[in-house]
Amino acid sequence: EKGMSIEELAYNLTMGEGEILGLLFSKGIKPDGVQTLDKEMVKMVCKEYEVEVIDADPVKFEEMAKKNEILDEDDLDKLQDRPPVLTIMGHVDHGKTTLLDHIRKSKVAASEAGGITQGIGAYKVMVPVDGKLQPCVFLDTPGHEAFGAMRARGARVTDIAIIVVAADDGIRPQTNEAIAHAKAAGVPIVIAINKIDKDGANPERVMQELSSIGLMPEDWGGDVPMVQISALKGENIDDLLETVMLVAELQELKANPDRNAKGTVIEAGLDKSKGPVATFIIQNGTLKRGDVVVCGEAFGKVRALFEDGGKRVDQVGPSIPVQVIGLSNVPIAGDEFEVVASLDIARERAEARAELLWDERISAKAGDGKVTLSSLA
Ligand code: GDP
Ligand code: MG
Repeated sequence: EKGMSIEELAYNLTMGEGEILGLLFSKGIKPDGVQTLDKEMVKMVCKEYEVEVIDADPVKFEEMAKKNEILDEDDLDKLQDRPPVLTIMGHVDHGKTTLLDHIRKSKVAASEAGGITQGIGAYKVMVPVDGKLQPCVFLDTPGHEAFGAMRARGARVTDIAIIVVAADDGIRPQTNEAIAHAKAAGVPIVIAINKIDKDGANPERVMQELSSIGLMPEDWGGDVPMVQISALKGENIDDLLETVMLVAELQELKANPDRNAKGTVIEAGLDKSKGPVATFIIQNGTLKRGDVVVCGEAFGKVRALFEDGGKRVDQVGPSIPVQVIGLSNVPIAGDEFEVVASLDIARERAEARAELLWDERISAKAGDGKVTLSSLA
């Protein structure tokens, strides 16, 4: 039977580990060195804090959870299709921004200082699939740090990774990194072999390189879709998007729009006139103006919501990125956010999280936690 570590439980309850240990001790339970709590202990602790333990039908729930950890048992009969969230990754200069730029039909690449992507943008894009326009959402990550940082914080925001490889350059260090990130997160990969318009472009060689590291092209009987494109000339980008949407369809991405929102912070900062601003991706539920949210150490009442492009909206549903105003302070990319019932609850949770992070910082500094005689001397 699976248990849960005290650390994990503390994280889930946004409490300090010390507090939970204290509670256990007060009940006469002395966790062993491994400090894994069995189900009964977890339930007991949760009961003490009046937190409900979700004890879902394990098979059905695991199946859903595999696809989307953000879903609860209650959502299962209210699920609706949601748009896929896509991340473009790849080695520097292989054409990520140019590709996104073409997809958005705007001029991001040209206007960027030094051609380097600034901040993480998230954009909703309508893509024709079988003659019908379907929404999808692109995250424009500045390198892989954001993806890695978010993953390290346990956030799995992306449904599909589009990995761009320049046909005249092949696999480079950041290509490998991108592949490793996608694999570690369990995110399906679609390869965009870019710059096929260039002299010296050799898409076959790229395919060979990729198959030698275990990514076998579909065209060669493997399971990794690869599309040859020119981001600059806009060649075959429709093919790429159609392929991506096909992969998305197979994933059967669902969410329950009919509940309080939760999701992940994609980017956050301080705006001179607006105060703390954060871009959220709604992963489940619907976020409405006036909702009270808590995300990491920040909390507040949602004063205004802006979709990508600056349009003010009253509510947003699953997968859609939205800029949120009204938070007490600036959260961190990768923080989860959640709608709660009142500002008091939000404040309490945010403070508990701040304390937890404080404890983590202290214990990170505290070395191996052992006190030896020589260290006392
Ligand atoms: P990023 O660093 O991956 O975002 O790469 P950029 O999109 O900034 O592109 C780097 C350079 O490659 C720019 O000068 C682009 O104009 C050029 N580039 C991107 N895609 C293509 C393409 O399909 N063909 C050609 N010839 N050049 C491209
Ligand atoms: Mg770029």
